[in-house]
Amino acid sequence: MVLISSYLLNARTSCLHVSNARTENLTSLAPLVVEDRPQAISLLQQARSKRYSVEEAKQLHSYIVKSGPSPNIYYLNSLIRLYAANGALDDAQKLFDGVPHRDVVSWTTLVDGYAKLGKMDDAKELFNSMRERNVVSWNVMITGYGKQGNLEAAREMFDKMPEHDIASWNSLISSFARNDLPEEAFKIFQKVLTEALVMPNKVSFLSVLPAIAELGCALRGRCVHSLILRTGIELDGLLSSALVDMYCKCDCLDHAFQVLKTNQSRDNVASWNPLLAGLVRHKRFEEALDIFQILQLENVEPDVVTIITLIATVAQLGTLGLGKWLHAYAIRKRIRVSATLASALVDMYSKCGCVELALQVFSMAEERTVELWNAMINGLAIHGQGKDAIELFSQMRAENSEFDEVTLASILNACSHSGLVDDGLSFFAAMKDIYKMTPKIQHYGCIVDLLSRVGQLEEAKTFICSKMHMKPDAVLWKSLLGACKTHGNVEIGEFAARHLIELCPDDSSAYVLLSSIYDSAGRLNDAVAMRKMMSDGGVSKEPGFSLIESGGVVHVFLVGDRSHPRLEEVNTMLCEMSEKFRSVGYAPEKQLVLFDIDDQEKEFAISHHSEKLAIAFGLCDTAKGTPLHIVKNLRMCSDCHVFMKLASKIYDREIIVRDNRRFHHFKTGKCSCMDYW
Ligand code: ZN
Ligand code: ZN
Repeated sequence: MVLISSYLLNARTSCLHVSNARTENLTSLAPLVVEDRPQAISLLQQARSKRYSVEEAKQLHSYIVKSGPSPNIYYLNSLIRLYAANGALDDAQKLFDGVPHRDVVSWTTLVDGYAKLGKMDDAKELFNSMRERNVVSWNVMITGYGKQGNLEAAREMFDKMPEHDIASWNSLISSFARNDLPEEAFKIFQKVLTEALVMPNKVSFLSVLPAIAELGCALRGRCVHSLILRTGIELDGLLSSALVDMYCKCDCLDHAFQVLKTNQSRDNVASWNPLLAGLVRHKRFEEALDIFQILQLENVEPDVVTIITLIATVAQLGTLGLGKWLHAYAIRKRIRVSATLASALVDMYSKCGCVELALQVFSMAEERTVELWNAMINGLAIHGQGKDAIELFSQMRAENSEFDEVTLASILNACSHSGLVDDGLSFFAAMKDIYKMTPKIQHYGCIVDLLSRVGQLEEAKTFICSKMHMKPDAVLWKSLLGACKTHGNVEIGEFAARHLIELCPDDSSAYVLLSSIYDSAGRLNDAVAMRKMMSDGGVSKEPGFSLIESGGVVHVFLVGDRSHPRLEEVNTMLCEMSEKFRSVGYAPEKQLVLFDIDDQEKEFAISHHSEKLAIAFGLCDTAKGTPLHIVKNLRMCSDCHVFMKLASKIYDREIIVRDNRRFHHFKTGKCSCMDYW
């Protein structure tokens, strides 16, 4: 919200450049062919930086051991390491057993091999039979125990060893960090600074940063960051990514961005993904798209994680064009449509108003997880296709798919959005009696909504007061109050408003709705008193805004907007529209305006609701016949609803409006919601 306001103040529109992505260079790895001993030796010398397979190790082995003079112990140790690194411990052990003058490195290498595979008993036996040990041998044991989760043994090794180097400390820090003991890990790191005779190195920071991330302590994170800068350690890709990840998990997204901007690994998309996820978690969707724009400008290719995060963003913003582009991009990049990606796509297409595309993705998905089913059922629900949602739920049960509380919430929601009272009540009963699930607040909310929408206000009130096993929340009271406005029930409206104000004294909706109920009932004095109470209490109404995407650009309109660069054109269009509509009997609903202003001004206010500005702009800016998608932050008022119906008929356009409650598909003068909203 804050962001979108600042977005408006800056009067800028977010352009998303959708460029062709670069083609990938895949260098294939040719199998290694060893021809003679000198080549084998030279290849073995590179063995620390290269990875060889067991077969390749065997080739090297045969040239080095079986031909020529007895090889240097250095090469033999390298071969042991190669086998161990591939998990071929039998080969490693056999070679080790045959080496006549084993040194401490030979022993440690094999101990490390066992430890890396988690065979700590074998590692310990070997370690105990070592005649001489160095600090590396001890460190290998600490790390091994740490990975196994045996922190006691790791700590014992650390305490027993005669001297510690920084790697010993690092092993201990990461052992605790890895085993969900971030506080202990951080304390050991502090000991390095205060007690140890060694300086922390890059690995120390790489070990402690995940612990700080886990703790979510930004202050410690900033201290460690400044320590890194002071020690002069180079901020390479790994370290920057760890910092970015830490800052994101500590919710310091701006710090994360600062690190990324100057980061050497900023061409690696994996360093950007935590930032994107953080922005989405904080509902900073526009900034997430800005980051995407930066990635495009810097030619950083998104991976599947980026795509899923961005699709979630698009779902929230309702920017269908970008959503389609991301989907096409994933296909072009041959990114496998996993169940997670499919669920994200289904959710995005539903929330962008394209339930057909959502169904297409759903039917093509290789695997149907409960998330995917839920996304599809919910998609049908918010589009008012209640019968289809119920049908899909029976199909889900027929295929023996597991379902959960989210599924039931979507089904109840579907019933409520389609006015299917009996179905909704029987699903609610089945939830408790047959599926043995305990209803949560959202399930109760659906039932209240279901009863309220169809005007069964007394039943809804009784349900809240006597059938719920928990305290009703604000959402629930708001549904009831909203329905009282629609059905003109003053008494229950007052009852609901009183509870809502008690729960959320700063929320304007109770005042606005009740005042409007009084207004409609002709109780003007009460309506004025309500508005006075609202302004005395310093409660202000959240300003309405609407988004519309046209030509790859997202345009934002605020209620009574005076900032859009093409406002004059929009206003001319609006005048033309209302004239045409008036000629077929449209009259603005003045009673919806909640200010003490005269009739002419009332008319201006209502005719400049943000979705009206957006639709006028959409009609000017797009070719005839193009469907128009609008996303509104608040619930659409009944006047705008009538206005959209007329616009769809007179201008022959499909108009899809997503408000904060549901979707409205306007076509040839009718709305898919059948006026249930
Ligand atoms: Zn309106
Ligand atoms: Zn509608």
